[in-house]
Amino acid sequence: MAPSVEKSWHFGQFKGDQDMSRAPHALVHTGGMKPLPPTLQVIERGWLSSNHVVFADDDAPTVIDTGYVTEGEGTLRLIGEALKGRRLERIVNTHLHSDHAGGNALLQAEHGCAIWIPPGEAGLVEQWDEERLSYRRTSQLCPRFRHDHVLRLDEAIELGGESWRVLPAAGHDHAMVMFWCERLGVLISADALWQKGFGVIFPELAGIPGFGEQAATLELIGQLAPQVVIPGHGAPFSEEDGAVSAALAAARSRIQWLSEEPRRNADNALKVLLAFKLLEAKRLSLAELARMVAATFEGNEAMRAFYPQEPEAIAAVMAQELERVGAARLEDGVLVAQALA
Ligand SMILES: [Zn+2]
Repeated sequence: MAPSVEKSWHFGQFKGDQDMSRAPHALVHTGGMKPLPPTLQVIERGWLSSNHVVFADDDAPTVIDTGYVTEGEGTLRLIGEALKGRRLERIVNTHLHSDHAGGNALLQAEHGCAIWIPPGEAGLVEQWDEERLSYRRTSQLCPRFRHDHVLRLDEAIELGGESWRVLPAAGHDHAMVMFWCERLGVLISADALWQKGFGVIFPELAGIPGFGEQAATLELIGQLAPQVVIPGHGAPFSEEDGAVSAALAAARSRIQWLSEEPRRNADNALKVLLAFKLLEAKRLSLAELARMVAATFEGNEAMRAFYPQEPEAIAAVMAQELERVGAARLEDGVLVAQALA
């Protein structure tokens, strides 16, 4: 097991030293521990699921983001524990990627809760357009849910007895939002800022500008100057020890580095998507891997220009890379996630 475990690898940065053999786990951060306010709990999940931010004591108990579908049982249990027997009345999504909205349907079935989604994608949810909602081109699963309400940018919503502003967070997903509580100095940053990096700039893969948008989102965060950031993946971090400034500085230099050579974002995206699928499926044949690569290219026009090779050849290189970093073992043409080895 590597000494430093980076939990927030997915949809973000893929590094050779990440320990992907670690079993999914959950850590609960509560307001009893500084620096979080006592009105919320952050449930930090394992590899496939986003964090859940739970406001248990509200008139309408609410969770922000619901994780990935295959971890739904854990999601139900963890959120149930955080609610201490109360019924969940509302889900609020920062964005609709499968690892943030994959538990929506299950929680809605269990609790009968309302679902609030970010602006711009209500039509896609109504039609359940799996291509434009990103599920097809990422080869990820997200059970269909129905939404009850659409957030508006710049409006304030009440969570945990405090007012939280809905802010735009374009870059990783142009429809993504963040939640900002000015009075507490707390930012719920989704995949716009993690302690180490931010999510893949997906729009660029489809030929839609995204680097400048991500840079602008980082500027906005800099202006807010949060005391505490609750990211979509990984542990909350605080300015008390300079961690927010450090994360912002690193993120700014990373977006610069990516925009100088867009292929870097595409390479990262491919590795992250394949590693995610491998962790979900546990075993993938090289043929399945190649089909995934092909599906990724189909939904992301701009990627094809970077990779003239056939999907099979790319899959073979990716398999070697996953093996090299210890994420998987190749057995008779089948890639086996290392956790099962
Ligand atoms: Zn995302």
